Amino acid sequence: MTAIDEKIEPIFAEVLRRNAGEVEFHQAVMEVLGSIGRVVAKHPHYANSALIERICEPERQIIFRVPWMDDKGQHHIARGFRVQFNSALGPHKGGIRFHPSVNLGIIKFLGFEQTFKNALTGLPIGGGKGGSDFNPRDRSDGEIMRFCQSFMTELQRHVGEYTDVPAGDIGVGAREVGYMFGQYKRITNRYEAGVLTGKGLIYGGSRARKEATGYGAATFVQCMLRTRNTDFEDKKVVVSGSGNVAIYTMEKILSLGGKVVACSDSNGFIVDEGGIDLDLVKEIKEHRRERISEYAKIKKGTSRYVDGGTIWDVPCDVAMPSATQNELTGKDARTLIRNGVVAVGEGANMPCTPDAISAFREAGILFGPAKAANAGGVATSALEMQQNASRDSWTFEQTEKRLSEIMVGIHDLCAQTADEYGSPGDYVLGANIAGFVRVAEAMEALGVI
Ligand code: NDP
Repeated sequence: MTAIDEKIEPIFAEVLRRNAGEVEFHQAVMEVLGSIGRVVAKHPHYANSALIERICEPERQIIFRVPWMDDKGQHHIARGFRVQFNSALGPHKGGIRFHPSVNLGIIKFLGFEQTFKNALTGLPIGGGKGGSDFNPRDRSDGEIMRFCQSFMTELQRHVGEYTDVPAGDIGVGAREVGYMFGQYKRITNRYEAGVLTGKGLIYGGSRARKEATGYGAATFVQCMLRTRNTDFEDKKVVVSGSGNVAIYTMEKILSLGGKVVACSDSNGFIVDEGGIDLDLVKEIKEHRRERISEYAKIKKGTSRYVDGGTIWDVPCDVAMPSATQNELTGKDARTLIRNGVVAVGEGANMPCTPDAISAFREAGILFGPAKAANAGGVATSALEMQQNASRDSWTFEQTEKRLSEIMVGIHDLCAQTADEYGSPGDYVLGANIAGFVRVAEAMEALGVI
């Protein structure tokens, strides 16, 4: 990881002091501040008016109690969060995560990242993120609905089409967005479709939103591969996770001629050297909501399931970490490099540790950082907002075409920025600088607020 410039170092020290113990947030801030030394050297005015300090401080942090009742009549309390990080470019925008690991530091890291990612899309959206430490695993439909209703009963005070527009993330898909939208509509008595994205098609969702993050990530990697005169054709690919991002990353890779040989969930991973049967993964994960181990039971003989372990031991040409933060370590990166990986695209948010990123950069591996590679989801959410605002609904082809153009645009912006700042091919530097400059310019224009 690039060292933080000495002029910026005291700002980072203050972030560490003020946000004690929030290690994921520190990691995300360090990555961005480690990249912007050259920008501040070239444009010293960015160090004025505490601009960098303001960028590192969320505009608003909301923490609330979420009481809910299980099917047996027992009451439980979860903790809800919404961090409205930066609205210089537009209303706060970012997903909601339901997972037992959720805490304030994780939501802040995600909101901070989201701010620059959203800036890279070129669309008018600020950054935010939310969630709860509620564990949706093995909960009935009724329990999920009651939880979502209780969560939205508080959240509705803080969100709105022009204020803050949440979407899904880990543990929150179309079903949960539907329950939250229903409760918002009921409490406010407003059919304000633009308050949430990732909605079902029948009530204001956008075609291609479900596919967008995965399709976009695969498109970004395809652009990186093209800079080296190659593409996905006949490449062996490993995709971690088997949720929304992973499934549609696999789908796009298959359509581009690649072969996905492994995917996972939080219990373990499956390997199918003949190529993963994506329809079966969808059936297990999207419909039956079962563990990925079921795959190997059904595909006996051709596939195997590994309980625990690391999916990054599976040799591949392209790695797409698409499950969760810090899932790919320095050790995993060195294994992948030894096994001949040529490109890595982050589908998840911050899935590679700083040590892993350094290893990939030093080895000259094409590396697509999350804030650029997985921006297709939020970009399509912004397209959903556009459709809601104009009371329109676009075709799948029209929406996918826009998504593809946006991803190519993000790729080219990151590549050109890396060139301009003297590090050709360094997409981490390119994404951090390009995102920072857009947010910083808007903040300067709006005055010290
Ligand atoms: P899902 O809940 O649909 O899927 C998450 C997948 O990752 C599941 O297979 C899950 O396994 C696995 N997983 C979760 N936590 C862990 C863990 N601690 N260790 C190993 N595996 C884990 O979420 P999404 O696909 O929506 O999100 C995946 C990542 O992509 C997240 O980092 C998210 O922030 C990011 N992202 C998502 C976007 C979207 O549009 N959905 C947009 C941009 C980024 P299990 O089922 O066992 O829990």
